[in-house]
Amino acid sequence: MTVNNEGWGAFKTNKWLFTTPSSSYARPRTPVQNSKVSESQINGKIVETPPTRRADRPRTLSDRGNEILDNHEAVQHLYAWNFSELRENYTEKGIHNPSIYCYAISCVQLLSHVPAIVRLLQDHRCQDPACLCCNWKKYFLQNTNHAGSIAWFREAFKKDKKFNQGRQEDAHDALLAILGKVEKICVANPRLKGRKIADDLFGYSIRNEVHCRVCKNKHVYYENNTVMTVRMLKKDPSGRNHSIKELMQHLFADTTIYGYNCANCKKKSDAPVKPTLLRAPQILLLHISRFSFDGWGKKISRPVTLNETLDVANMATAGASTVYKLCGAVIHGGTTLDYGHYWCVARSRKRETQFVTLNDSQVSQHANPRDATQSYIVLYRRAEHLVDSGIEKSMI
Ligand SMILES: [Zn+2]
Ligand SMILES: [Zn+2]
Repeated sequence: MTVNNEGWGAFKTNKWLFTTPSSSYARPRTPVQNSKVSESQINGKIVETPPTRRADRPRTLSDRGNEILDNHEAVQHLYAWNFSELRENYTEKGIHNPSIYCYAISCVQLLSHVPAIVRLLQDHRCQDPACLCCNWKKYFLQNTNHAGSIAWFREAFKKDKKFNQGRQEDAHDALLAILGKVEKICVANPRLKGRKIADDLFGYSIRNEVHCRVCKNKHVYYENNTVMTVRMLKKDPSGRNHSIKELMQHLFADTTIYGYNCANCKKKSDAPVKPTLLRAPQILLLHISRFSFDGWGKKISRPVTLNETLDVANMATAGASTVYKLCGAVIHGGTTLDYGHYWCVARSRKRETQFVTLNDSQVSQHANPRDATQSYIVLYRRAEHLVDSGIEKSMI
């Protein structure tokens, strides 16, 4: 089966992932997976690959996928969101920024507040002096100085020259690159039995149900990824700010593929698509695409309110409730794409009811996520894994 390019181009859930300039690095490897035949999309071209033996196929989510992923014994121990259970109890500290590394520092800070990531770092040791994970642990987490260093981040990407161009880079790109490095250390961890850890922790799946208007056939396409990109909405006439839940809901709104090429009847038509969230991830990582292109790239600076509690029931395939709690965000301050400053707000490791601001070497103990309206990356955790103190109140 060949999937029509035009059809995929109109797929709103993929469109900007392939056109946003800043998302060029580490694009989803299999943005859309057909349940019957595997296709790969490379630089906009569809390459059909023959079906492989069942055992050799890349692991993909299906309608049964959630349960299989979430109940796998090899990763269950990672899910608890509790820093007190970690071998070492790290204090909150900043990272010294020698010049333009706030995009990396903010992501390192955000991920250093994910217990599963810290557990993986604690378990890891290797012989590579440039290993991002070894150095992350040694020069930042375990470092007893007031502020850690970030030189190891640049060092880890020296060979491929990524993030070594002497300019401010995109935090979303850095986040994906860091997750790629974490993924690599997991392969060597015997406890994880070859699991793809980024999928286990952050992996989500969107089920796109397409109806052919000509033959009335139903086609289902799965879209798997780890960082969910949501777009800014048009300015609300009343002037109120949109919430991140509204941005996410827009991703799951019914839409149309114009010129959809039906594999069954081989006819082209405008086909309605119903996207639903098949797998609600353990950790929901949202990237707010604040870019607009109008001859040149511009930043959309409109504020977005972060819901402290977010239930995805009305987006879920089975309408099931999965409640998330806000755990952190990377914020971009500044009105242009190439300049400005990134910093991080995260749930404190010491007191889960408290948020801290981590701005380069500065740490402020009392942050209010309500102020994080210029967020660029937002991190949510399933509420079931978070210690419920009863103190928190839903913001919205
Ligand atoms: Zn290492
Ligand atoms: Zn058809």
